[in-house]
Amino acid sequence: MKGGRKYKAQGDAFSHAVHAGQGPRTAVACTHARTGRHYARRVNVDECRALSAGTIPTTWARTLPGLAWVPGSGAISLDVLPESVWVAFAPLTARRTAPRRLICPHCTRPCRSVYASPYGPQGQPDEQVGCRACLGLTHPARQRHKCPDWAAQVLEHPQNHSPTTRRRALQVINGSASRILHAVRLAGHIEPLEK
Ligand SMILES: [Zn+2]
Repeated sequence: MKGGRKYKAQGDAFSHAVHAGQGPRTAVACTHARTGRHYARRVNVDECRALSAGTIPTTWARTLPGLAWVPGSGAISLDVLPESVWVAFAPLTARRTAPRRLICPHCTRPCRSVYASPYGPQGQPDEQVGCRACLGLTHPARQRHKCPDWAAQVLEHPQNHSPTTRRRALQVINGSASRILHAVRLAGHIEPLEK
C-alpha cells in the first residue's frame, strides 16, 4: 500500500511471551519454512517422556510413598539416582486405592501423568519436568484448530458451535478452497480422473 501506514510484522502473543521470558517452562523454537520468521510454539505431550499413574505396579502404588523416575530411560526405581526425579504419590483415599495420582514435582498438585520435556523456556535442549498444566503442554487434538478437517467438523454440526467459531470455520474452508484453486490454475489444467 503506497502512502499507507507502514506494515510491521507483529508476531503472535505466545512467541512474544516466550522471547520476553514470560512463556511456559518449555517451548519449541521454530522457523517458518517459507518466510524465515522465527516463532515459538507450545510443546506437545507426544514430544515428552511421560510417567503415568496407571503404569505403576499396583503393589508399589498401594504401599510406597513415591518412586524415582529417570525420564531419559523411562526407568522407575526406589533408589534416588543422580539423573532421577522423585515423584511422590498422592495420599490414598477411601475411594481411590490404586492407581494413585502422582504429585507434580514442580507445582505439587495431584495429576495423572508427569512429563519431561526435552526443551527449555527458549526452546534450548534442556529437561523440564512437571505436569501438563505447569509445563504449558498442548495436546495434538488441540492443534487441529483452524485445519480444514476441524472446519469441516464444525460446519457439519453448526448448532454445537458459537457464531465466532462458525465464522472462523467458514474462513478456513474459503481459504483452503482458494489455495486449491490457485494451485490448479498454476498447474494449468486438471488431470482427468479416468482415461
Ligand atoms: Zn505441575
